[in-house]
Amino acid sequence: MKEKFKTFIPMSALRKEFNMKILIIEDEYSLADAISETLKKENFMTNIITDGEEGEDEALTGVYDLILLDIMLPNKDGFKILESLQREKIETPVIILTAKSEIYDKLNGLENGADDYITKPFHIKELVARIKVVLKRKADVKDLSIIQYEDLSLNLRNGKISCKNNEITINGKELELLEILMINKSQAVSRETLADKIWGFNSDAEYNNVEVYISFLRKKLKLLKSKVEIKTVRGIGYSLEVQND
Ligand code: CA
Repeated sequence: MKEKFKTFIPMSALRKEFNMKILIIEDEYSLADAISETLKKENFMTNIITDGEEGEDEALTGVYDLILLDIMLPNKDGFKILESLQREKIETPVIILTAKSEIYDKLNGLENGADDYITKPFHIKELVARIKVVLKRKADVKDLSIIQYEDLSLNLRNGKISCKNNEITINGKELELLEILMINKSQAVSRETLADKIWGFNSDAEYNNVEVYISFLRKKLKLLKSKVEIKTVRGIGYSLEVQND
C-alpha cells in the first residue's frame, strides 16, 4: 500500500550525506534513464516514472528529497501534479524539465510552486548542479538546529535532548529517528518511511531495526521524565503522544 502521510524529511539527511532520493517523472525514458544514471554516480537514489498519474501518486508519498518533473506527460500533466503537491502540502522541492517551445510554462511552473526549471535539451551536469543548489537552499531554510515538541527540546548539533532539568545525549540513528518523529509531531510516520530514511531502504530487517531503536528512545524519554511518549499506531508506524497527568 502506498503511504499517503506527509512526512517531513529531516535536514540531518543532508548533513550526514544520506543517499537522497530523487523521483524522475518523465515520459521520455531514454532521457530519464540518462539522468538517473548520472545521479546514481553522484550517490543519489532514483526512481523513474513515465506516467503522469502514477508519478503523482509516487510524488504524494512525500518520501523523496526532490522531484524532477516533466510537463507533457501521459494521463496527467506536470502542472496538475504540482497542484496536487501543493494541495496536499507536500514540501518536496520540484525542478521542472520543460521543452524550449513551452517557454511560458517556466513562469507558470514557478508560480505553481516549482523550485526551479531547466529547458530541454540540457546538459545533465547542469541539471545535477541545479539539483544541488535547490537541495542546499531547502536545507538552509529548514536547518533549525533546535526542534521543540511539548516539553522536549532536541538540539540537532550536539544530540542533546532535554526536558526541564534533565538532559541526555543521543546520536546516530536514534537522533535521526527522534528528529523525524519530532518534526512530524502527533502525525504518524510509517515504519517504511523511517526504515527508508534512516537505513536507506525498507525490508523486514530494517523494520526490526526501527522497532529496536524506538524501544531505546522510549526508555530515554522515560528517563527524561517527559510527557511525550512514542505511540505505536497499529498497521502504520509511530507517532508522538503527550500524556497528560
Ligand atoms: Ca514529456
